[in-house]
Amino acid sequence: MSRVYNFSAGPAAVPLEVLQKAQSEMLDWNGCGMSVMEMSHRGKDFISIAEKAEADVRELMNVPANYKVLFLQGGATTQFSMVPMNLLQGKNKACYVNTGAWSKKAIKEAKIHCNVQLSASSEDDNFTSIPAVDSWDIGQDAAYLHYTSNETIGGVEFQDVPDVGGLDLVADMSSNILSRAVDVSKFGVIYAGGQKNMGPSGIALTIVREDLIGNAKAGSPSMMDYKNHADAGSMFNTPATYSWYLMGLVFEWIKENGGVAGIEARNVRKAEKLYAAIDASDFYANPVQLNSRSRMNIPFTLANSELDALFLSEATEAGLVTLKGHRSVGGMRASIYNAMPEEGVDALISMMTEFERTKA
Ligand SMILES: *Cc1c(COP(=O)(O)O)cnc(C)c1O
Repeated sequence: MSRVYNFSAGPAAVPLEVLQKAQSEMLDWNGCGMSVMEMSHRGKDFISIAEKAEADVRELMNVPANYKVLFLQGGATTQFSMVPMNLLQGKNKACYVNTGAWSKKAIKEAKIHCNVQLSASSEDDNFTSIPAVDSWDIGQDAAYLHYTSNETIGGVEFQDVPDVGGLDLVADMSSNILSRAVDVSKFGVIYAGGQKNMGPSGIALTIVREDLIGNAKAGSPSMMDYKNHADAGSMFNTPATYSWYLMGLVFEWIKENGGVAGIEARNVRKAEKLYAAIDASDFYANPVQLNSRSRMNIPFTLANSELDALFLSEATEAGLVTLKGHRSVGGMRASIYNAMPEEGVDALISMMTEFERTKA
């Protein structure tokens, strides 16, 4: 068996230990004689898996007791609709901050349900910065304010939770959840798709304050109402059981690796050394403002873009794969989520240094 270092933005690398555990339990989970995939979601075995996953993520993120933790389907994209459908609660306005491609998609979906007040945008600088919070145009009569805590494509990340006065804060944390400490009590809703930092795609984790549940827009499909999922312990319909189990294994892995604090310290080291290598070179460049750089997704360009294809093929030969940048940005992008070992980043830096020495 040979495993590569996978720098994909998503679906992304999963910790090897998690895959090995899933492999060892694939045919017979805990002596029950069947795979988790084959179990009834109502049976005691799966219930124990589901409850442990929830308890672990509550512990890891220090989720206050007045928040529900939901395991939903349809990825983060479905949350783009569920957030306005559940949180407008009779109001007709929500504030959104536009920091890149994922913000834009959330805004487009919200506009189906309400007026969107654009509180801030970094479109003018091509999404290479986070607009300073004191410049935001916040309508205190809005139902909530939504932002994207890490823009997976542009590689910009909020370094702090913005202070938006009394408004309920909603964050799409798909690509940086569990990578750094956050104070959940500052939010109305936090949501994230699974496939960046928590395992498989298709599932989403939504953390929602209880008082925001129960007032979905009239006419909402049952599956879009947080209350139905909250009341049924995320088993309103058959949940994505295997994905839920895998997420649980990822939570266990984070606990075994120092919790969010331990993972965050490692993420800081990984990102700092990769940015330092890019900044020390005249051949590589990262376009993002220093105070807005993402620890998770690091886009970089080569001084001579004619060398892009050669760079990618040499990287692949060295076992460093999926480094091609998003088509809207070009160049390269290294996604170094929680599951990327520090050795993977070291290997990338060595390869980049050698490429520059021999090809630039
Ligand atoms: C990947 C991603 C999404 C979309 O997730 P899906 O699971 O494809 O719906 C939304 N927001 C951000 C920030 C992402 O990185």
